Amino acid sequence: MSTNGEADHPIVIAGAGIGGLAAALALQANGHSIIVMDKARALKEVGAGLQLSPNACSVLDQLGVLEDLAPHACAPDNLRIWSGASGRQLATVRLGNFLKERHGHPFWQIHRADLQQVLLRKAKSVEGIELRLGCEIVDLTSSPYDHLSCIFQDDQVTGHQNCKALIGADGVWSKVRQLVPGHENAHFSGQVAYRTTLPVDAVPKRWLGDAGLWLNEDSHLVHYPVKGGRELNIVALTSEAWQDETWSAPADKEALLHQFANWPTDVRNLLRSSDHWLKWALCSVKATAPWSHGHIALLGDAAHAMLPYMAQGAAMAIEDAAVLANHLPADATNIPAALRAFERERKSRVAHVQDISFGNARTFHYSGAMAFARDMVLRLSKPTSLASRYDDIYGWTLHQ
Ligand SMILES: Cc1cc2nc3c(=O)[nH]c(=O)nc-3n(C[C@H](O)[C@H](O)[C@H](O)COP(=O)(O)OP(=O)(O)OC[C@H]3O[C@@H](n4cnc5c(N)ncnc54)[C@H](O)[C@@H]3O)c2cc1C
Repeated sequence: MSTNGEADHPIVIAGAGIGGLAAALALQANGHSIIVMDKARALKEVGAGLQLSPNACSVLDQLGVLEDLAPHACAPDNLRIWSGASGRQLATVRLGNFLKERHGHPFWQIHRADLQQVLLRKAKSVEGIELRLGCEIVDLTSSPYDHLSCIFQDDQVTGHQNCKALIGADGVWSKVRQLVPGHENAHFSGQVAYRTTLPVDAVPKRWLGDAGLWLNEDSHLVHYPVKGGRELNIVALTSEAWQDETWSAPADKEALLHQFANWPTDVRNLLRSSDHWLKWALCSVKATAPWSHGHIALLGDAAHAMLPYMAQGAAMAIEDAAVLANHLPADATNIPAALRAFERERKSRVAHVQDISFGNARTFHYSGAMAFARDMVLRLSKPTSLASRYDDIYGWTLHQ
């Protein structure tokens, strides 16, 4: 595909989520001018907790936002794993200082809105990144005699924007992905995540401090502090046929309590203590399908949405941003080749993380003999060996 004068055009990024904003910062630092378009009219405080492991924090450090994130982040010393059937503790996994010393960057838990706002503030503070809200990217056109132009809709009005590349960071239900031949669509897992946050002074002390992971037949529960320790993030995952393309559907507490009917009273009381539950349907996109085509590349959930059983969705989007920029210097002459190289470099790592996540989706929800065996292994495991198990994931840095 040849385009006239494309070098002077901006790179357009679809999506001002975590991956889109990280990519904007990384590409701008290389000297590109960037337009980020998001279909949302405003980037409101939606979503809840995310985990930022050392691999993600090393990129955020390079992007110059780690210090600004610190007041919003929490770094619990441990993850405690519990049986949701017996209510007994099964294992402890060292986090906090152990992982920071091991990998050189922190393991943080943070509210998605805080992370997005810090990235957004940074993007607004530098020259060369323009943000356009209320713009949904729908297509990309080109001809040998014309410029490459992405097509967006703003209030039913169709607009055109010349660009030298289109980066689809538009999430799990990506429109840009439809432009990549051979792409995979999002696949619903049959599981739903219920989430809420509670002020810590509304929560009994036993839920504060360390992060928690509770395992039970067909469902599990995760809780950890966010908002610099002022709120507790609670996510309850269970099987349910409901699905919708939203991150924030209102959820029925009674339906949740019904799903968790056989759980320990303490857990049920915790679930009962919030009146504001939201839910989203867990979907994935196979990382092995194509994510680049000509001047288009996908990153983050658009390319490889994963189930949240490794808590690496945001981290992989952030890593993608850094690797994409690494392949795309401002004077890149063959953009399609650079985007293909980006995809090649990322694919096996992301597919590996996605596989671990699918594996955890099975083991977390075991019942009977399989659950008994899993619990035995956990009981016999050392806190540091459980924490070192993911060294290849957490120890990643851009220039390893
Ligand atoms: C509103 C929201 C709430 C979330 N809450 C949680 C949560 O509580 N816990 C969790 O683990 N993960 C949550 N996620 C997902 C999490 O942010 C991602 O899994 C991860 O950070 C990877 O990010 P991403 O940048 O690839 O995609 P996302 O963070 O999903 O960002 C995609 C962005 O693209 C925009 N967009 C979509 N289509 C178009 C289009 N055609 N043109 C322009 N813009 C478009 C969306 O509005 C969105 O801002 C949430 C995502 C969103 C959008």
